[in-house]
Amino acid sequence: MTGSPQKASSEPRAALRLAGPWGRSGWRAAMALPLAALVFLVDSGTSLPSAVAVLYAGIVLLVAEDCAPRTVLLTGLGCALLAVGSFLAMHYGEPWGASHLRLAVSLAAIAFTTLLAMRKGSAERILGQQAEILDLTHDTVIICDADDIIRYWNGGAEKLYGWTRREAIGARCQELLGTRFPVPFGEVERSLRTMGTWSGDLVRTRRDGQPVELQTRLLWRPATGGRRGDVIETSADMTERKRADASIRSAEHRYRLIFQNAGVAIWENDFSRLFTALEGLEASGVTDVRAHLLQDRDLVRRLVGMVTVTDVNETAVALFQAGERGRLLGAVESAISTPEAEETFSRLVASMWDGDGRCEAETSFQTLAGERIDVLLRLTIPAEAARWERVLVTMLDVTERNRTQQALTRTLAELAHASRVSTLGQMAASIAHEVNQPLSAIVTYGEAGRRWLRREAPGAEETAACLGHMLDNGRRAADVIERVRALSRKSVPRKERFALCEVVDASLVLIQRELATGGITLRQTMEAGLPEVLGDRVQIQQVIMNLLLNSVQALTQAMTDAVDGPSRVLVIDVARPDPDTIRVAVRDRGVGIAEKDLGLLFEPFFTTKSNGMGIGLSICRSIVESHGGRIWASNNRGDDGRGDDGVVGATFQFTLPVAKEGA
Ligand code: ADP
Repeated sequence: MTGSPQKASSEPRAALRLAGPWGRSGWRAAMALPLAALVFLVDSGTSLPSAVAVLYAGIVLLVAEDCAPRTVLLTGLGCALLAVGSFLAMHYGEPWGASHLRLAVSLAAIAFTTLLAMRKGSAERILGQQAEILDLTHDTVIICDADDIIRYWNGGAEKLYGWTRREAIGARCQELLGTRFPVPFGEVERSLRTMGTWSGDLVRTRRDGQPVELQTRLLWRPATGGRRGDVIETSADMTERKRADASIRSAEHRYRLIFQNAGVAIWENDFSRLFTALEGLEASGVTDVRAHLLQDRDLVRRLVGMVTVTDVNETAVALFQAGERGRLLGAVESAISTPEAEETFSRLVASMWDGDGRCEAETSFQTLAGERIDVLLRLTIPAEAARWERVLVTMLDVTERNRTQQALTRTLAELAHASRVSTLGQMAASIAHEVNQPLSAIVTYGEAGRRWLRREAPGAEETAACLGHMLDNGRRAADVIERVRALSRKSVPRKERFALCEVVDASLVLIQRELATGGITLRQTMEAGLPEVLGDRVQIQQVIMNLLLNSVQALTQAMTDAVDGPSRVLVIDVARPDPDTIRVAVRDRGVGIAEKDLGLLFEPFFTTKSNGMGIGLSICRSIVESHGGRIWASNNRGDDGRGDDGVVGATFQFTLPVAKEGA
């Protein structure tokens, strides 16, 4: 390290170098055998006055360089045997003297050398293993001397920085890696000198020019014995982690931005206490938590009390007229609760408990200023919040929408009434005609009765018959008038059971004159034994009348348009397509509907008639749908070649659900 606190040392560390590629070569062990043979020959063949056998110690040392302690021991034993062998060959039987002493010295030398070589071998082995471990670690380990010259460079450093060990050793570390310290280098030096360590984040440049961010720890190893002081550096590559951290931070930032600026109110809540409470409920033997939640209002209130609001956005603060965030944080403010909200809460929590990660419902709250608000409430449990530690509640303010909807419904009711009155206007002549008939009949029967009474022998029976006819016709007239009055009433919709066929019959009575004037034949088919439906009889009659009158008009128009004139038939069919439904179909062979208009017929104010209002069908739709039914239109197709696409009139149908038993 440049300017490191100790003097330079140019010696690489031997122990660490063991881990290098230069390792053991094995050639020394191979040399041992011929050398041993040579020493044996010299020792056994010459009678030199010195201890030649001492040379065996050199062979032991040679083997120790390459081999394991066990081999060194065997070599030592072998050499000792050879020395004893030579002695016996040369000096067997000699009296105690200098030759014995030389043998003893040689054996002692071999023994000592063997022991020392074995110890050194195992110490180096341990160091070598440690160095291998250092090599295996993903972190970089670099050892530099006090002059910043690299002395050790592990596999991790090779991989990360791109320079091989051979290339790196001997180079100046910080120069090679272009190190940028987070603090002035003097501070690093001071820390190493006083505390022996320094740690911090570095930025370096790899061989390929890419920057790397590292978390680094430096350790100063003072000089000991023959070894000079050096700096051991371990670093972990933080580039990926920092990138991941940065992306998490940016995701969090984006989320916060959306959270704060979203147009919907968002609440972050901790439901974990509530979760534990529900677990406790199950543990206490409650099997149907949902039923429990839906029935026990006190429990629901207690559960609401366990919710902690951890954050709310600006829209939520504005929606609840809270003024500032703090008022909505912590325990849920009881002032915002309403019976509807409690009921919705219990249903949503029950769904969540059943495993629904996201559920929604419409409900009402009260703002802190006491205003009522309608909201579309949605609860979402993020996947990581297994115990509901984080539940997102979003609320879309639908108060205005609901108000508009109510106003629309009111307007529609007004329009429906207006439409009825206008229909009645169209039928005034028909009604006059209908009522005129029974009235004329009454007059005729009244005169006939008077004549019977004026006779000399008054015919009591005949007179009574006349009176009976008068009564019948009077009732018929009253009936017609009652139906007309019912239709013109501006009454609130009623729910009653009634037979649809009767309403169809009553409607047909009212349009008899239109049919007669147009020369239209009516065909009526009704399935026998139809069950009753539930709803407002007058409204349904309005629908049927509307469809019938439209068909009459379509037929009349077709008759004016066509050269030959179509068949003047209008069919009304009442059937039960499935056990739960009754269907009324009005089929004519009139002008039919242009393809482009098919999707628009039921839109308010859509009309193709010069004097049409275009509200009849839209009212029909709202009436049928409010009764749980459906209304639709289609063209009839035939093979009589009428029109380009063979359209032969239209069919309008609507369904109503069958009234349930006991409803
Ligand atoms: P209006 O009768 O005042 O036009 P409606 O809402 O009753 O209003 O009808 C809307 C339009 O639907 C009509 O203008 C007509 O174009 C079309 N329509 C309704 N009934 C029939 C029918 N039976 N055949 C062909 N077209 C029809």
